[in-house]
Amino acid sequence: MKLVPCPLCKSSREFLPVRITGQDGHIHKYSGLYDGQQLSAWKVCGDCGFLHQNPRPSIEALNAFYLNSEYHTKYETPPSVEDYLEFGKWYYAEKTDYLLKAIGPDSLSSKKVFDIGFGHGGFLKQFADREWEVYGVEADKNHFAFAKNDLGLKGPGVQLGILDRKTDIGTQVDVVISNHAFEHFSDLHEIMESVQKILKKGGYIFTVVPTPFSNRSRLSKKWMNASHYSMFGHHSLNHLMGQYGFEEVHHTYRGWWKEIDEIWHVAQFTGKVFEANAFVEDPRKVQFYMNVINPLRSAAYFPIFHGWAIRLGFFNKWKRRIRLLFSNPGLAFKKLTARVKAA
Ligand SMILES: [Zn+2]
Repeated sequence: MKLVPCPLCKSSREFLPVRITGQDGHIHKYSGLYDGQQLSAWKVCGDCGFLHQNPRPSIEALNAFYLNSEYHTKYETPPSVEDYLEFGKWYYAEKTDYLLKAIGPDSLSSKKVFDIGFGHGGFLKQFADREWEVYGVEADKNHFAFAKNDLGLKGPGVQLGILDRKTDIGTQVDVVISNHAFEHFSDLHEIMESVQKILKKGGYIFTVVPTPFSNRSRLSKKWMNASHYSMFGHHSLNHLMGQYGFEEVHHTYRGWWKEIDEIWHVAQFTGKVFEANAFVEDPRKVQFYMNVINPLRSAAYFPIFHGWAIRLGFFNKWKRRIRLLFSNPGLAFKKLTARVKAA
């Protein structure tokens, strides 16, 4: 474990502690890396207000950990292709539509997209289905194999590995996307320099990350676990990207109802570099938000969003059944009798 400078502004002057409640459902995965601790530690940078995990395992240890596919493989079995395609559409189609609406795809000279950490490939598949050329990296070899072999996402630009300054896809893309990836990156500056290399000037970056800001549930604080290193809001995303010539086009904390406490953020690579202090936040305000306002908001929203994922899953199951009843009554009836027999 190592106390690191602020991952955003690189200051080591002062760090304000943030209270973490409950359990860390991820820390056990990192057997050796946390010296038997039960919770990760989170701080607000005393200079720029950035919320991040500190101290944390070293960058080298973390990269080795992800490249050994330790994060996922012990705990997940590959999905069936049919189920995954259905999930992928449910999970990524709205995000894709939001992005395309924000940038106006007719303004682009070509349709090439790069996904940082594409997982099983569901997000890229949305673009492939819309006749985009797809590119990307994925560190987990099992996820990579699924995307390539089962979803058919192939080509020299679809690679096993992580995004770094050495990444070469032989072209520059129009759009860079990532879903729940930036919170995992240990070196944010290397990522942004690498994005500058693979993205055309005038192109866009679309970032989806879990967030404890503007929160509606306790899940927002559970995001602050050992598997994540940074927690962004729109200020810190603009602070990071503004240093590398990116200007915000649009952001929302209310993109959808499927997963709450998430921010969607679109920025354009204009080349305009912002002053270092343009997006700095008041560290005491961020600390107060996390220790006081966030739990109050979670309590206020509790009647609506308690057990949200479970209720949503229940609702979707019945929606699918009713839809099947209308589209294929024979199959719906067969499934129903099978369930009754099983019970
Ligand atoms: Zn900072």
